[in-house]
Amino acid sequence: MPEMPEVETVRRTLTPLISDKQIKYMVLWYPKIITGDAADFRQRVIGHRFEKVDRYGKFLELRLNDGLTIVSHLRMEGKYRLTTPEAPKDKHDHLEFIFTDGTALRYNDVRKFGRMQLVLTGTERATTGIGKLGPEPNSTEFTWSYFWQALQKKHKNIKTALLDQTLVCGLGNIYVDEVLWFSQIQPLSPANKIPVAAAKNLYKWINVIIARATQMRGTTVHTYLDASGHVGGYQLMLHVYGRAGEPCDRCSHILQKIKVEGRGTTFCENCQVKY
Ligand SMILES: [Zn+2]
Repeated sequence: MPEMPEVETVRRTLTPLISDKQIKYMVLWYPKIITGDAADFRQRVIGHRFEKVDRYGKFLELRLNDGLTIVSHLRMEGKYRLTTPEAPKDKHDHLEFIFTDGTALRYNDVRKFGRMQLVLTGTERATTGIGKLGPEPNSTEFTWSYFWQALQKKHKNIKTALLDQTLVCGLGNIYVDEVLWFSQIQPLSPANKIPVAAAKNLYKWINVIIARATQMRGTTVHTYLDASGHVGGYQLMLHVYGRAGEPCDRCSHILQKIKVEGRGTTFCENCQVKY
């Protein structure tokens, strides 16, 4: 599943591919990709130009001129690629924007879980899932005092609390496991029982790991590719995710894997502390 660093990489690579391109026509092979009225979506985007791509958490915001925004969530396997309308359709291509310059942007999604929604620019928080999201790591809203106070209200285990995007948004399964390993906190520790020094450490590593992963263009797991077809570089730096049964990089104890609310979770029971 693409996480925030991967989605940021998609944003950066997609931007130059579609900026200033005008939509001449739109082909919709799988209408359920669209949230809301698919025919209305198509009718309203034709003739508009892409201006830029923004992002909040794992949501892409594809800005069109005249105050329209396509909010796109890739979910498990969604990907964009620039091609031409003549290129053979892949069986998992679900939607295509055909541009006036003869190129086309296709959306491909093996699992069909991704969604696009057309909204008026500026209403994203009120009309889409963005409204439920907490602050992003490294943002001005994500302060230590905010994080500490929000943590006190979470009675669930810290793994679940970090995956639930209301405390801080943008951390999925991979980076939560990595952040907890760096912070030396066991995933089943109740969030509000973590002492202040350990929580400060956790706060620091959330910011550091997300910044580092974004710089490395994310992690390639399964079929994730950015919009220019490159693979991410962060997978070479993973300490716990996908490494159950291997020795811990810090203490050599064998890493163990458990399920936390259905999510595979890898950690070191020796050097990560259970609070
Ligand atoms: Zn260890």
